[in-house]
Amino acid sequence: MAEERIEPVSRRQTTASTALAVHYTVRMPHPASHNFEVEVAVSGAPGEVTLALPAWTPGSYKIRDFAKNVSSFRARDSRGALEVRQLDKQRWRVAAGHQGRFKASFTLYADEFSVRTPHLDDTHGFFLGTNLLPYIEREAGFPAPARHSVTVVPPRGWKVATGLKPVKGKAFTYLAEDYDILGDSIFEIGTHELHSFKAFGVRHDVAIVGWGNFNARQMVADIKKLCETEPRLFGGVPYDYYLFVIHCFPDAGGGLEHLNSCVCGWPSFKFKPREEYDNFLRLVAHEYFHVWNVKRIRPAILGPFDYSREQYTRALWVMEGLTQYYEKLWCARAGLLGDEALLNSYAENIDREDNRPGRKVMSLEESSWLAWTKLYQADENFINSGVSYYSRGSQVGFVLDARLRALTDGERSLDDVMKAAMERYGWPKPGFAEGEFEKLCSEIAGQSLDDFFEAHVRGTSELDYREVLEVYGLEFKRDKDEPSAWLGLTHGTKDGAFQVRTVEAGSPAMAAGLQVRDELLALNGHRVTAKDFDDRLKDFRKGDRISLTLFRRGRLVEARLTVAEKPAGKLKLVRVAKPTALQDRNFRRWLWK
Ligand SMILES: [Zn+2]
Repeated sequence: MAEERIEPVSRRQTTASTALAVHYTVRMPHPASHNFEVEVAVSGAPGEVTLALPAWTPGSYKIRDFAKNVSSFRARDSRGALEVRQLDKQRWRVAAGHQGRFKASFTLYADEFSVRTPHLDDTHGFFLGTNLLPYIEREAGFPAPARHSVTVVPPRGWKVATGLKPVKGKAFTYLAEDYDILGDSIFEIGTHELHSFKAFGVRHDVAIVGWGNFNARQMVADIKKLCETEPRLFGGVPYDYYLFVIHCFPDAGGGLEHLNSCVCGWPSFKFKPREEYDNFLRLVAHEYFHVWNVKRIRPAILGPFDYSREQYTRALWVMEGLTQYYEKLWCARAGLLGDEALLNSYAENIDREDNRPGRKVMSLEESSWLAWTKLYQADENFINSGVSYYSRGSQVGFVLDARLRALTDGERSLDDVMKAAMERYGWPKPGFAEGEFEKLCSEIAGQSLDDFFEAHVRGTSELDYREVLEVYGLEFKRDKDEPSAWLGLTHGTKDGAFQVRTVEAGSPAMAAGLQVRDELLALNGHRVTAKDFDDRLKDFRKGDRISLTLFRRGRLVEARLTVAEKPAGKLKLVRVAKPTALQDRNFRRWLWK
């Protein structure tokens, strides 16, 4: 029997004459309980209706089953209670309401604070449309809803920030053209500071939520610089309003992109020192670049969306890897990051990723395709078995950009690819077919780049940086020459025990049979702790034999290791002393100087 396929109502369907409409009301009468009270008022329904909550939310490729937070799902019409059958973990079948109208309601518990999950407490409320608002499942003979609207009822003194269009004259009420736009929307409810500026003639708001050691004026001024820089590549902005929501809480982190908004989380007191603040700006530059790359330029499977299950694409290295490549570049182009810091951040990524055993095992395509169960559920062995399409994709972007410049005497670059991709596939146009982005790169290069993609996207070949160095006039350097002792393990403290966290394939630690969760006790018979382990290792050189005493599953074990070495210094990328005129021109063009 063929698997049942569920298709959400989305912009795929045309609007029929029957005016099926959905109005959501979201209340939060007691925020500290973490409970949102959701009401779904449906009118114009031709019969029974199935309401469904998404299993995942776009931009975050993991099954999260938002319906797991639902309780007390009920429905009624003007005559009384209606029968509701829960069909599976995320769908409810509601009996036909009188004259096509009914109201469903449920409670949704929201105590997982992240950029992708619903959260409510006495500090604020946050949700995405996909977290909380069920869609009407598409059925034969069913019209697509002609209207989606939402009313948020905040506690007294709280306000609402969202990218959705407000309905004039109705407090905290918003309209969405279809479920994809509704599901994509951020709702931030609380007492946040709201800052505004104009870029490209369009209003941009920055809602700062929480507390921390930031300078709000500086932050908004720097975000404005990004908004005045990134759109220049595409000749302007593709929205008429944009909202940044910045979560500043001790447990905040990560970012999530939306069509005309994004949410960025940053730990309250990590806005200083400057290097940390630079990392924050990179996050903002990253999420903002997604306005184009992923929210508009995207593989066909990433919009319109099927929210019912995993959606597979081999192109996440384009969506996330190239965005990670660009995030630093945008900061540099906007004058927020110096040349040295920019080059060193690429060098650091190269040093880490090239030395990762998993890069010989998993290709970028595979990393993209299996994001749902690999990168998004990475375990302690992922360093040996996988690569991140973010970091590895960023490296490939770095090399690909230089190759495009090398092949065209500096006349064309990855910028031209992104621009052409936006013109060709930018939402609301249909997304690209698998492999089409690579073809576009070849088109811009004026010759086939198939070998490059075969080697570095479909394959796991070593990246060659000679072209990058040649194009921009750069060289690699180590800030220290002497090597240091290396065992190939990382460690940390868990439940008070000093433990092995990862063991690298091909390392002395793996050869000696060390295992993740081994509790480290002594080195050559003397006690070691998390604080002094790395320093103690400095006493040894390549070839030295050492013993590690440890507990493994409660039993005392002694392991003998032969010390290896690795370069001690940080890898740096620096400009050559005397670049050629072409190298100098390429470098300046790269950074838009
Ligand atoms: Zn991203």
